Amino acid sequence: MNFCETAYASVTARVAAARQAAGAPAVALVAVSKTQPATAVRALAACGQRAFGENYVQEAIAKQADVADLPLEWHLIGPLQSNKCREAAQHFDWLQSLDRLKLVAPLARYRPPARAPLNVLVQVNVDDEASKSGCRPDEVAALAAAVAAQPRLRLRGLMAIPAPAPERERRRAAFDRMRTLFDALRADHAQVDTLSMGMSDDFELAIAAGATMVRVGTLLFGARAP
Ligand SMILES: *Cc1c(COP(=O)(O)O)cnc(C)c1O
Repeated sequence: MNFCETAYASVTARVAAARQAAGAPAVALVAVSKTQPATAVRALAACGQRAFGENYVQEAIAKQADVADLPLEWHLIGPLQSNKCREAAQHFDWLQSLDRLKLVAPLARYRPPARAPLNVLVQVNVDDEASKSGCRPDEVAALAAAVAAQPRLRLRGLMAIPAPAPERERRRAAFDRMRTLFDALRADHAQVDTLSMGMSDDFELAIAAGATMVRVGTLLFGARAP
């Protein structure tokens, strides 16, 4: 097996084991391909991976063109600027980083009628740090309601990037707060089924706390160039 096959087998086995330990029905794996070339996406797709995550709209569009022959699912996971709403709505299957109301109407307006509604996750700043992206926990309900009111958008759940904390306890606490917000959102919106949290360093901890989707880059592709 080459690096990519070995890495894919290892990550999918670890996700499956964590899923089973948590008693969760399913956990989706999004391969984070930011800064990686299209050849790396193609290699991982050959292993069976379908969902890929990108942080930058422009970089993603160029890469997507190189692998347009493959049936892939694209997730935008980086901060979205208002002037990129049209391209985001046109070129992705999922937007995981919705963090403010003013993006909702443009995303819906620009979603091409021929495509399925854009799947949307509300990104939450679960640590309450001013520097990080994501809405405040007390803003989730209003943002979610705005998304749910748009037929061209499909509210699917929540996403978070907890601040890196050396202590597992602090990370676990952030994941647990997300799980609580997720359960509350599900009580209001029956279609909500996705809690996206956990990366290379902590995806098993996230799955134990209730993640239904993890976003893994480094472990699948190797370290990114600085
Ligand atoms: C880069 C990134 C990831 C993947 O991080 P790794 O540590 O390389 O697994 C996941 N989610 C988001 C939002 C990212 O920006």
